[in-house]
Formats: sequence, structure tokens, C-alpha cells
Amino acid sequence: MRALIVEDEQKVANFIKKGLLENNFAADIAPDGEEGLFLAENEKYDIVVLDLMLPKISGLEILKSIRKKGIGTPVICLTAKGNLKDKIEGFNAGTDDYIVKPFMFAELLARIRALLKRTQNHLENSVLKYADLVLDQKTRRAERNGRIIVLTAKEFSILELLMINSEQVVTRTLITESAWDYNFDLMSNVVDVHIRRLREKIDGNEKEKLIHTIWGMGYVIKKISGKKKMV
Ligand code: CA
Repeated sequence: MRALIVEDEQKVANFIKKGLLENNFAADIAPDGEEGLFLAENEKYDIVVLDLMLPKISGLEILKSIRKKGIGTPVICLTAKGNLKDKIEGFNAGTDDYIVKPFMFAELLARIRALLKRTQNHLENSVLKYADLVLDQKTRRAERNGRIIVLTAKEFSILELLMINSEQVVTRTLITESAWDYNFDLMSNVVDVHIRRLREKIDGNEKEKLIHTIWGMGYVIKKISGKKKMV
């Protein structure tokens, strides 16, 4: 899950980011409306936490602008303004929810989760299957041949992506975009490190390997049994 936090108060932004990271989200911070609008329009997020009073471009304008462009990313508005008029204005502009400052992180997280559940209801009780590999998106655990495989947050994100796109090549860029935040260094080998660990867990002791590297392109989850092994 990837979140965008548009918030000019650095302390609040860092507080939200820290909480989200602890809950397995990747998160970017935009410190003003201009950057917030740019990121919301050009990057892929699962959730946007949007402050309304922002330098350069207001949160309300950002909201109107992205909705006008057909970007349906779930948005939670965050503001000190708690009166009914502002709330109605926010909902009219296309926000999904509203939280008034000061707030407890637990409440924000609960609202984010409720919102994600509504917008991504396929995740509810959803289990991905490929060959003898099962991935429970709710408990974030994998199972193969009756063997329970515990995954880290990153490994889960990568495996989920591979299984949703099974038998198709998933590029490193797509993996990076889904599981890491904007500041992630594309040149680093972090993706490879996570893939290696994921493979050990999924394929390590199995006769049939499911996760394969497509050199120069990315990775694929695929059954290649029946074919002769190239030596
Ligand atoms: Ca503000």
C-alpha cells in the first residue's frame, strides 16, 4: 500500500508517515499544494491524506483538480477546520472522508483501513492462488504444500503483485512503484535482495520453482513443469 501525505506542517506529516510505515505502508510527503498536486496526478497511490490549508495550492483545489481529471484515488481530508460548511465543501469536491485536527493516529489509520476496504473490497477475504501457492491478502501469509510462509511487508507486496499478474512479466519499475516510496533509488539492488529472500521462502526447498527472473525485464511467477530443464 502506498500513501501520499500532503501536509505543510512537518511535524504532523512526519507523525503520519511514521505511523503508516509502522503499518506496512510506503509513504511520500508533499510539503505544499503544488508538489501534492503533482504527485497525486503523476504517481500511483492507494490513499491520499490531504491537508486543506496548504501553501501555493489549497487542498480543496487539489481535490477538485484530480477528480476533474478522473483520478479516483481514495482521499481523506485533514484539517483544523471542523465546521459543517467546510466538510460539505470537501465532500462536494470529492473527498471520501474527513478527519479534524488534532486527531489520534489510531483514528486516522482506522479511517484509512475502512476506506481501503470499501474501495478495494476484493481484498476482503481474498485469497490469491497460483499452482500450489496460496497467498492470503488479509493475513498476509503465504502457504505452499501445507507449509506456512511468513513474509515481510515488502515480500508480501512483491508476491501479491506477481500473483495478481501471474504468468506475465512484472517489471522492476512496477515492483518499485508498488512497494516503495518516491525517494527510492531505482539503481539500488534492494528489489533483488527482497526477491532473493522471497524465492528462498517460496521455492527454496520445492522441486518446482515458481518465481523466475526474466533478464533485463523483471520477474514472473510461472509454472514451467513439463519442460526439460536446460543445463
Ligand atoms: Ca496546513
